[in-house]
Amino acid sequence: MEAAEASMASWSFCSRSRDVETLCVRAPPPMPAARREEAREMPATIGSKMALFCRLESCVLRRNFPICLSSWKNPPHVLKSSQSEAGLKTTNKAQPYAPLQTFTDEEMMIKSAVKKFAREQIAPLVSKMDENSKMEKSVIRGLFQQGLMGVEIDTKYGGTGASFFSSILVIEELAKVDASVALVCDIQNTIINRLIGKYGTEEQKAIYLPKLATEQMGSFCLSEAGAGSDSFALKTKADKKGNYYVINGSKMWISNAKDAGLFVVMANVDLTLGYKGITCFLVDRDTEGLHIGKPENKMGIRASSTCPLTFENVKVPEANILGQIGHGYKYAIGGLNESRIGIAAQMLGLAQGCFDHTIPYIKEREQFGKRIFDFQAGLRQ
Ligand SMILES: Cc1cc2nc3c(=O)[nH]c(=O)nc-3n(C[C@H](O)[C@H](O)[C@H](O)COP(=O)(O)OP(=O)(O)OC[C@H]3O[C@@H](n4cnc5c(N)ncnc54)[C@H](O)[C@@H]3O)c2cc1C
Repeated sequence: MEAAEASMASWSFCSRSRDVETLCVRAPPPMPAARREEAREMPATIGSKMALFCRLESCVLRRNFPICLSSWKNPPHVLKSSQSEAGLKTTNKAQPYAPLQTFTDEEMMIKSAVKKFAREQIAPLVSKMDENSKMEKSVIRGLFQQGLMGVEIDTKYGGTGASFFSSILVIEELAKVDASVALVCDIQNTIINRLIGKYGTEEQKAIYLPKLATEQMGSFCLSEAGAGSDSFALKTKADKKGNYYVINGSKMWISNAKDAGLFVVMANVDLTLGYKGITCFLVDRDTEGLHIGKPENKMGIRASSTCPLTFENVKVPEANILGQIGHGYKYAIGGLNESRIGIAAQMLGLAQGCFDHTIPYIKEREQFGKRIFDFQAGLRQ
């Protein structure tokens, strides 16, 4: 009984859901071990594994219905954590949720599949992609085939149907091998897909989400030469003409623009309104008047293209406005807030990747008659 209470306390301590918004998740019934094994043995992509998991779990495996609480009977995969136990408390209302330092079976499966994919299909190309400042097509194709570009997109649109937290794990795993690839995945999952999923009309979702899940990369276009940190000072404007808008202006530092098929563009429909005129438009790559400039020659994450864009009388149908007119600034702030979690995961993965490369080297490299590994960190000559 005491053990059960202690366990309950530790779960309640981390009672944040792994969804950004949905703070409350309910426990599904635990999946029998034999069924979990059956799901694990399935090869192929994360998407197809997830689909099988969903079937086995009678479709309760979406993030809103995680299997994390199956660990009441089967202990979760607990990671060592330096998190302080101080402040652990339960209230009568508190429900037990899996702590964030544990992974569900579904998340373990995603992590190991991404790790394998990154090691086998990305690692051999990292140097070449960095030197050439170019993402290999096979890597982009692989990301889609593995279901990593539509992690949260509903399975009815061809997505993987997993959680925001799973996207974060994917980004971290990819960044251990290549931070550029992780960035591609971050922008797609934490900004583009989420914005369309949240604010898109049914028609927009039906058009864009299947493509974003399976073949089309998206770019988020906010920054301009004079609008960096002060992004709402953007000057790109969208003038209404009948049932379409005409966009004129330019954007800077737009990630993945070289390969993107869809541009989520912030433009102002009435500059006199200031930031309250900022509106979000979905612009297809082949729209006349949209020019994608030469990628910047960056010092890092070189394989992810960062390009300027110019909009010269770009006609966009009214139906391509995402969400409400004048609410673009809210969507931009919200999207960036969420994508920052992805960037943190990217940095964490990158640091882990560096560490993983360093340890074998210092165990092999000898100086002063012994392995560097065997010296104290503070050695002075
Ligand atoms: C690799 C890369 C990819 C990018 N991808 C995208 C993308 O996909 N889409 C997009 O829209 N944008 C993108 N950006 C642009 C990015 O969002 C901007 O670089 C960022 O907003 C900062 O703007 P800035 O570079 O103009 O810096 P500035 O705004 O000029 O800031 C310069 C320095 O001044 C500091 N500073 C600014 N204001 C203040 C203040 N009020 N108080 C104190 N310090 C301040 C900043 O912290 C910074 O250190 C990308 C940038 C890079 C480098």
